[in-house]
Amino acid sequence: MKKIVFLLVLIISFSSCKKDVKKSVLLIKKEKPKPIYRFGYKIEDFKVIQDTIKSGESFGIILDRHHVYYPKINKIAGSIKNIFDVRRVRAGKPYTILASKDSTEKAQIFIYKHDKINATIVDFKDSVITATRYKKPIKVVEKIAEGIIYSSLSQTMDSLGLKPNLTYTIADNIYAWTLDFQKLQRGDSFKLVYEEKYIEDSLFAGYGNVKSAVFKHKGIHFYAYRFIADSIKAFPEYYDEEGNMLRSQFLRSPIKFQYRISSRYNLKRRIAYYGNRIRPHRGTDFAANIGTPILATASGTVIESTRRGGNGKFVKIKHNGTYSTQYLHMKNRKVKKGQYVKQGDVIGWVGMTGNTGGPHVCYRFWKNGREVDPFKQKLPAAKPLKKSLKPRYLEFIKPLKYQLDHKHIPTQQPEIVTETIAQN
Ligand SMILES: [Zn+2]
Repeated sequence: MKKIVFLLVLIISFSSCKKDVKKSVLLIKKEKPKPIYRFGYKIEDFKVIQDTIKSGESFGIILDRHHVYYPKINKIAGSIKNIFDVRRVRAGKPYTILASKDSTEKAQIFIYKHDKINATIVDFKDSVITATRYKKPIKVVEKIAEGIIYSSLSQTMDSLGLKPNLTYTIADNIYAWTLDFQKLQRGDSFKLVYEEKYIEDSLFAGYGNVKSAVFKHKGIHFYAYRFIADSIKAFPEYYDEEGNMLRSQFLRSPIKFQYRISSRYNLKRRIAYYGNRIRPHRGTDFAANIGTPILATASGTVIESTRRGGNGKFVKIKHNGTYSTQYLHMKNRKVKKGQYVKQGDVIGWVGMTGNTGGPHVCYRFWKNGREVDPFKQKLPAAKPLKKSLKPRYLEFIKPLKYQLDHKHIPTQQPEIVTETIAQN
């Protein structure tokens, strides 16, 4: 069956808690007919010439073609050289010339586009010559996506037209400690409220924040709300509907994405090669390509960084009095004994040193000096939300939860617009 992706533009209203909801959705103002401005200039006042710098062309050649001549060109170049070196214009870069509308069609403004967002505006229409840096305004649009899992999260996200970095945000950031995305089931579903950034209203410039999300896995709702508890550090975290932080003290995996758990912790593992005898596996093997970065799953001090026997090149990190983690078979190590590493720091790269049949990292999780299965541990959560903040938090998430739990009902309320994409 072909999955159909469709786009709905819905106008929504929440009559019961209108005030709260307004805050959380984007307001798009009705545009009145008004003059068009580009780069701060009223476009209708000029003849607009858009072109791309050809190979062999210089700033002087281009201006000359548009009726600005030497020595004026030298004067322009000289007076702006601290901001913009005209010798550095490169073939292939787009530019815009705003020329006078009269019969002379003389260039007055030269706009050099460094990339999609940044430009330099050289204005020489009056006696005062200026060069200014320009950044295109970015519009942030709130979007809602809903999907059902058929095989994997990435496939569903893909079918919704969402790009992989949003999938990674969901799987490896927000829910990394809450859900095992390798174990999602057909029929699990999700809803996300997230931001998309646009340049000049139409050119996609990446994702903003994921503001809230809910995952329904095995009939259980896993909520995630982005909330800044500490207004000074202003570091956002994700919390569930009761204010429990979703992040744990440990990452679920020492590989960021694109790995496969090739062997789990198993004390009763039998290996045919050894005559079907029990060869316990006290680690979890994450298979990944050679050279894939290996991350410290929690902050701590490196207590071993060496090469030894079947372990090959490995690193061991002590996190506190209870927990240590160890990473085996590295191609290369990046950290030294005694070094302090932060959660998520790259400590080495996947390899196949020591006893291993293929490239993977054997991840060993030590608790009180014994190797245990990290997936069976009730791992300590990161700092919980302060009690004094909880009432504010619960108030904050009320409209967000309503948004996640309800379908949008179109009404006659033009100022609130949100776009929903969903699978059919
Ligand atoms: Zn292993």
